[in-house]
Amino acid sequence: MPDRLSSNLAQLKASETVAVSAEARRRKAAGEDVLDLGVGEPDFDTPSAAAQAGIAAIQQGKTHYPPNSGIPELRRAVAQNLSALSSGRPVDPDRIIISTGSKQSLFNACFALFGPKDKVLVPSPAWVSYPQIVHLARAEPVMVPGDVEWGLKVSVRDLERRTDKLVRGLILCSPCNPTGAVYTRTEIEAIATWARANQVWILADEIYRRINYGGAHAPSFLDLPDELLERLVVITGASKAYAMTGWRIGAALAPPHLVQAMAALQSHTTTGANHPAQWAAVTAYSDPRVEQDVVRMVAAFRRRRDRIVSRFRSEAPGIEFVEPHGAFYFFFRVDGIAPGLGGQAFCTRLMQEEGVALVPGGAFGDDRWARLSYAVSEADLEAALERLLPFIMRLGASQAA
Ligand code: PMP
Repeated sequence: MPDRLSSNLAQLKASETVAVSAEARRRKAAGEDVLDLGVGEPDFDTPSAAAQAGIAAIQQGKTHYPPNSGIPELRRAVAQNLSALSSGRPVDPDRIIISTGSKQSLFNACFALFGPKDKVLVPSPAWVSYPQIVHLARAEPVMVPGDVEWGLKVSVRDLERRTDKLVRGLILCSPCNPTGAVYTRTEIEAIATWARANQVWILADEIYRRINYGGAHAPSFLDLPDELLERLVVITGASKAYAMTGWRIGAALAPPHLVQAMAALQSHTTTGANHPAQWAAVTAYSDPRVEQDVVRMVAAFRRRRDRIVSRFRSEAPGIEFVEPHGAFYFFFRVDGIAPGLGGQAFCTRLMQEEGVALVPGGAFGDDRWARLSYAVSEADLEAALERLLPFIMRLGASQAA
């Protein structure tokens, strides 16, 4: 009988999105015809200028331990990028820390800021890892359901309702995984004003900021005046905009004392992010050729978004969905297809009967929905819609009969 595991993991659940992908991969390997619209990573290859910079770094022997907080060139490139996206607002590279994916940036920030008896507000539906990371810090995640009428976003009123004296943080994701909703500048400002009045830290997960359909980039907390930003951590990273998920480069912008604490934490856990990957990311963040690739990839995501929205409207009328303004997810409601139908049951049947993998909304905190990722080739997306839309209509008709 194996010994028991530590209470550190008392609340820990394995990632359900990763589990969906593993199941899709298993079925594909067994020869089944499966279309995987579960995974949240771009189908594009890493832009070649960035990939070449990574190869060159290896060939030039940049393979020793990196500086723990990131190579200065990358901290500068990320700072310049954030500054350029925020109308030239100065961003100090000393306030940037590079980590092993933005997932580690988020973990380090939560672990450094929150602990037992602290509560952290998490607008819901939420990316699967937020509540888990808060639990790992031994703090308590408090889910705040978003408003269906409002793209499942939360307002200050929603936050207020769930807030008490123990609340010390808020994790806000915009553009949002899993819904694709994007907070406007006015909404962000209202939330920042509320957070300052309540001395609540904001962890702004802006990893999808470049994948935005209403303009070149989504509104950010960095668009706001300094006095609103004392307790702010901005999370960003190379994974999504630059199709660099496997390189594992993320970054956080935080006040100096917090950057120091996060650096001390990673000095004992990872010793900094992969060294040659950091050089690849320098090129990703600063080379105009990569910028052209980003524009091309975002245009492709937009075309797919338009296609899904128009096909759902015409072929599955009445099915409620959040109109995506950013990221590469489409979140639609399944409980309207048939009374009592949940995301789990819907996705299981869809996989078994049609060979299409989606993620049940329950993974994000609300099982009345399902998430489709359109970070797949246009051919796979069309093929998946050919199976998904008639399946939805059949399910609805069989319930009505
Ligand atoms: N935040 C959000 C909202 C995400 O969707 C993801 C990846 N799925 C991450 C952070 C983590 O990305 P990475 O660790 O690859 O930078």
